[in-house]
Amino acid sequence: MLYWDHAATTPPYKEVVETMAEIMNQHYGNPSALHQAGEDAAKLLKRAREVCAGTLGVQSSEIVFTSGATEGNNIAIKGVAMHYRSRGQHIITTKTEHPSVYECCRQLESLGWEITYIPVDEYGVVDPLQVASVIRKDTVLVSIMHVNNETGAVQPLNEIGKLVKEKNSRTLFHVDGVQGFGKLSVSLKDWKVDLYTLSAHKFKGPKGAGILYVQQGIKLFPLLAGGSQENGQRPGTENVASAVAVAKAMRLAQERQDTFYDKIGKLRSLLLNEIRSIPDFVLNSSEKGAPHIVHFSYPGLKPEVLVHTLEELGMLVSTKSACSSRNSEPSRVLQAMGKDKEIAASGIRISMGWEHTDDDMNRLVIALRQSADKLRPLSAKRG
Ligand code: PLP
Repeated sequence: MLYWDHAATTPPYKEVVETMAEIMNQHYGNPSALHQAGEDAAKLLKRAREVCAGTLGVQSSEIVFTSGATEGNNIAIKGVAMHYRSRGQHIITTKTEHPSVYECCRQLESLGWEITYIPVDEYGVVDPLQVASVIRKDTVLVSIMHVNNETGAVQPLNEIGKLVKEKNSRTLFHVDGVQGFGKLSVSLKDWKVDLYTLSAHKFKGPKGAGILYVQQGIKLFPLLAGGSQENGQRPGTENVASAVAVAKAMRLAQERQDTFYDKIGKLRSLLLNEIRSIPDFVLNSSEKGAPHIVHFSYPGLKPEVLVHTLEELGMLVSTKSACSSRNSEPSRVLQAMGKDKEIAASGIRISMGWEHTDDDMNRLVIALRQSADKLRPLSAKRG
């Protein structure tokens, strides 16, 4: 079987798994404890924080370890909304955010916050001027993702960050960086980002682990009440093994980013061309997207039929994103890009990882052609 679902999750690095096992076996102390085992764990945690911070070019006191990006996005958005409530209750986001941002904003909306959902163009990209045009005095937060998890569309964060701060220097800028880190370069300082979320299992780290960068001086209302761990922003006994593994995966992902971009970017260009040449498929990803994600639709066909046909041919791909693959609603992201319901309901995502070779891509392309041929009578009947 060839695994083509790296935007859903990645197989962890061997070193990451070994590190976690070693720490769980040998350094199991509680970092808050005063004895030797506690101090030993605290040192490992401190070092992990320094590595994560170094990778992003920020201070280690600005890193909060989380259970992943769903938690990170919720802590960031609700934490800002609630802490800065008296300053204003207006938040800006886009129509194509991951559910951990979108639904979080919807919850706040139901509690009285005003949310502006910015549209995207046909390629899934936001116009920075449109973001700037809706910033107000009471806008406390702008939350925009780096790379879209369904289509791979890349947002112009540099321009957006600059315009946000020009329009209102007190408006905070949050970026869900999950699908961009390790694939594209990241510059929190240039983008003027105040809060930044990552999830380790998207770059070959452990599942249930991530980080949230919170710029010095920013206050968040803590969603969980408890101890003072993670600067009081995320109470609970720290998962030291996971933090060390996140640091290791972050460093490896950053070191290999350029090679990833070149190697996987080439495979992506090839795949885009092949998909364009299969008449049944409609390409939804643009040439300018992130190097690892390709999204297309097979109108007239339920996407799970294509997923299972490809699986029989040894190829594991997905419909939409992992967290919404079991709902059969047309994709909110594709609809926001102006795609009709049929296209939005028949999307397939292929996402590549480090391991893929030219030979793997050749095998995938053959399987795609065979599946399209096999399913054509079915889709024609439905259409
Ligand atoms: N944000 C984006 C863009 C994602 O792709 C994902 C995962 O699919 C998440 C957030 C949520 O990450 P996690 O699985 O760590 O909760």
